[in-house]
Amino acid sequence: MKHPRATGWGDHVSCFCSACRPKSAISRRELLCTSAASAIAASTAIIGTTHAQQPMPGAVPGRPLLIKDGCVLSLDRAIGDFERADVLIEHGKIAAVRPNIAAADAEVIDAARMIVAPGFVDTHRHMWQGILRNVLPDGSLDDYIATVQKTFGANYTPDDVYAGDYFSALGAIDSGVTCILDWSHIHNTPAHTDAAIKALMDSGVRAVFAYGNAQTTDGRWWEAKGSKYPDDIARLRKQYFSSEDQLVTLYMAAPSGASEQILPSFKAARDVGARITIHVGVGERGRAALLEKLNAADALKSDTTYIHCCTLNDTEWKLIRDTGGTISIAGYVETLMGHGSPPIQKAIDIGIRPSLSVDVETSVPNDFFAQMRTVFSLQKKDVWDRRLAGDKNPPKFLTVREVLEFATIEGARANGLDRKIGTLTPGKDADIILLRTDRLNVMPMNNAVGAVVTSMGPQNVDTVLIAGKVMKRNGQLVGVDFGRLARLGDEARDRLYASANVKNTRI
Ligand SMILES: [Zn+2]
Repeated sequence: MKHPRATGWGDHVSCFCSACRPKSAISRRELLCTSAASAIAASTAIIGTTHAQQPMPGAVPGRPLLIKDGCVLSLDRAIGDFERADVLIEHGKIAAVRPNIAAADAEVIDAARMIVAPGFVDTHRHMWQGILRNVLPDGSLDDYIATVQKTFGANYTPDDVYAGDYFSALGAIDSGVTCILDWSHIHNTPAHTDAAIKALMDSGVRAVFAYGNAQTTDGRWWEAKGSKYPDDIARLRKQYFSSEDQLVTLYMAAPSGASEQILPSFKAARDVGARITIHVGVGERGRAALLEKLNAADALKSDTTYIHCCTLNDTEWKLIRDTGGTISIAGYVETLMGHGSPPIQKAIDIGIRPSLSVDVETSVPNDFFAQMRTVFSLQKKDVWDRRLAGDKNPPKFLTVREVLEFATIEGARANGLDRKIGTLTPGKDADIILLRTDRLNVMPMNNAVGAVVTSMGPQNVDTVLIAGKVMKRNGQLVGVDFGRLARLGDEARDRLYASANVKNTRI
């Protein structure tokens, strides 16, 4: 086998098998340099084309892929579900979904004893925090702002942003999240921005990069000296996002606070045709009728996703619905950190189907199975409580299928990508997950949707395709050097703790 030889960390490197890897040990300088560009180049090397023992499906460009004999949940009501069917993929797109597809020239992925479904879609995650996983398992929202934003965030370098985004993206893919909105408010300088975008693009995940403000030690992001927020979005549109037909697309992450600070972000977004995402209705801070004020400035449109919405008033809810907005519920963090009750029933009652999100990996598991189970159980608890309290006309219980739709097609809608992803529909991009049913948490399989929503976890995610590219196969991420990945994470974490002057006991 011919191995393209790596000539240096700054070069394009396509092979990281032991034969091609540079012989010298990786130095801190090489892996995590002080300049964003060099650190990014080094970090990019973690994913390369590895020499697998067997050819990886999809390795031959242009050759169709056939996912064969799976239990297919298309989530497209016109297509339906199949106890056993095939999915044909051509040029990264879904070409057909039906039983017994004949495609003699296709590479076959055997999906017997697998559930084949659309990948999960996360509509709000602060991915720069991917190196701060679990730092605040017991923290409130105020603790989070003090520790994660003002202490760590203010001290982030572009290298740290790269590492955080990269870990978060790979973790998403590993757990079956194929599309993720990076709610990115770490833009202390434009170099931080470039690092975040590079990490998303290097990871191979389908991402929506939502450009947000800086972090500072006092929370006054608008005074951050190096920040170019929000106007730098014009450069980003030109430099990175000139096409909508690419794997990473652009949003504006608008700050919360006074409407006069928010409106310039809305304008800058719309000037470049970027959709908007904003946190609203969060705890006591969320009771300021902000959406009424923004509406008075004629700023609410269908291009905006509203996150949390726990403490909005009824007028604000109607404004979201009437202007065609989408919402993102992060049920786990909302119950954990004091945002208020996840407004699942409220959204359903007013006629809005929510999307789901992880939010912060500092306190929340990174997988979507936990998110689905959180909203499912909370909605049922609320209905049961009402029944027990004598309510003669309680709402209907959510079903597992509805929750799976929240995690897929509703996410695609909120991320502005429902024409491309979210269901297994011919013509859409092939963002597909294969979930093992021959695992002890679900076998023997009796109810596919029930298995996914109530019992499965990341350990069931066998195969992940994004735009037809195989990102995970046989339970392993494709082409990831875990030794190097671990060093990238450890070094970034240690440097960040040192610069933030925080002692890390690891316990
Ligand atoms: Zn958030």
